[in-house]
Amino acid sequence: MIFITPILYIISAILFVFGIKQLSKATTARRGNATSALGMLIAIIATLVGHGFQFQWIIVGALAGAIIGVLASKLVKMTAMPEMVALFNGFGGLASLLVGWGTYQVVADAMGVGWGVPALDAASAAKFMDDIGGGFSAATIYLAILIGGITFTGSIIAWGKLSGVVTQKPVLFTGQNVVNFLIVLAILVGAVWFTVDPEQYWIAVVATGVALVLGIMVVIPIGGADMPVVISLLNSYSGLAACAAGFVIRNNLLIITGALVGASGIILTSIMCKAMNRSLGNVLFSGFGAAGGSTGGSAIEGEAKPMQPSDAYYILEAASSVVVVPGYGMAVAQAQHAVRELAEMLEHNGTEVKYAIHPVAGRMPGHMNVLLAEANVSYDQLVEMDSINPTMETVDVAIVIGANDVVNPAAREDEGSPIYGMPIIDADKARTCFILKRSMASGFAGIDNPLFFRDNSYMIFGDAKSTVEGLVTEFKESAA
Ligand code: NDP
Repeated sequence: MIFITPILYIISAILFVFGIKQLSKATTARRGNATSALGMLIAIIATLVGHGFQFQWIIVGALAGAIIGVLASKLVKMTAMPEMVALFNGFGGLASLLVGWGTYQVVADAMGVGWGVPALDAASAAKFMDDIGGGFSAATIYLAILIGGITFTGSIIAWGKLSGVVTQKPVLFTGQNVVNFLIVLAILVGAVWFTVDPEQYWIAVVATGVALVLGIMVVIPIGGADMPVVISLLNSYSGLAACAAGFVIRNNLLIITGALVGASGIILTSIMCKAMNRSLGNVLFSGFGAAGGSTGGSAIEGEAKPMQPSDAYYILEAASSVVVVPGYGMAVAQAQHAVRELAEMLEHNGTEVKYAIHPVAGRMPGHMNVLLAEANVSYDQLVEMDSINPTMETVDVAIVIGANDVVNPAAREDEGSPIYGMPIIDADKARTCFILKRSMASGFAGIDNPLFFRDNSYMIFGDAKSTVEGLVTEFKESAA
């Protein structure tokens, strides 16, 4: 039976790769999820077969996991997905830490250097030691503990920031860099020492504590809105930790899946950084988003023109093309259903309606897609930034709903602006631009937006949901 395990592992690995590929398109994403789940089922069966069906503990774990998973999928709201993913990563990291520790504990106790009761007799311990190898295994145990520990506490802080339990503001204190440097130095010294002499049990204990502290230290200086980038980075770390755990227990499939998660996490991180035109270093170390409201570049001239929904209605009623540009504020206001209703009214009136999607609009990758899908907006109406921008000059009205940084023309025009170079949706190029927000306040980047002061721009102040509902009412009343 044992020979079947590697074959099943290869099948699982292939299914994982295909699953990830299918996840990259909205139309095949659901199938991708099912493909990967099938891969995981085969992986679990293969592991059980490989261990002679000793599954009494595995079944307890699988049942507990399944119950929690089903409850979470029913109870967690779509908008709370980033928090959920943060927890997933954290527990993945913790699992790898425990695999590393579990293995080392058995070895250490058998060698008589651990702080536990030996579970193996001398002969089995010697065989176990033989199987587990020397310095290489010590290094992988150290890595699993280290990366797993950083991922665990880092993800818990990221979850806290996203859910508002921990302050969203970057936490900075004097001497932070020195403390971080000393922690990293201690980790490096420990790595070399432990690899050379794995009998130094206390190093593993200290490294665990230090890794847990480092996870907290690396995430607290980062602003709440940058958490999606941090989460995808921590996702990558959780993969690397699993990969290290795979080496520890010599499980090829765990090595492959860990590497897949590690690589895909780092690719997503880099895509997000590119979409914001910021380096990963800038996200991790600059305390971005802590700034107050200023241009950070040239002074803005002109005057913002407020408009009432009743007046905006006449312009919309006459428009033959409308592009909706949603942003974080639409998520805050939960205005997506009202927005879909307004779009239906416009279409009924003969207007062509499209939605312009910026890759980092909102606070997580695909945030706008998720919200609009929840409101049953057809995927065909969603147009990516690069495709919509060349058409913006021909658009009658751009309705910017709770978006700010992602439509800030300073990113295109003002070299002194902190967001200069960030790709934006060219809402300013539409014939008329309505901006729906509550005030003149800045967005996440903390900088003013010259779009509000353009000749063709009108501010419609108020909560986005109430404003859009107001516009819908205007359409309904005129139809009655
Ligand atoms: P912004 O944070 O720039 O702006 C959101 C705007 O929404 C605010 O100006 C706010 O103005 C308005 N708003 C808030 N609540 C409401 C409400 N109830 N009704 C109406 N308006 C409201 O969001 P964007 O989506 O434009 O940009 C996203 C930002 O997040 C970018 O800087 C991006 O780099 C960053 N980011 C995104 C990531 C992602 O993965 N998506 C990852 C990391 C960072 P007011 O208070 O006046 O109402």
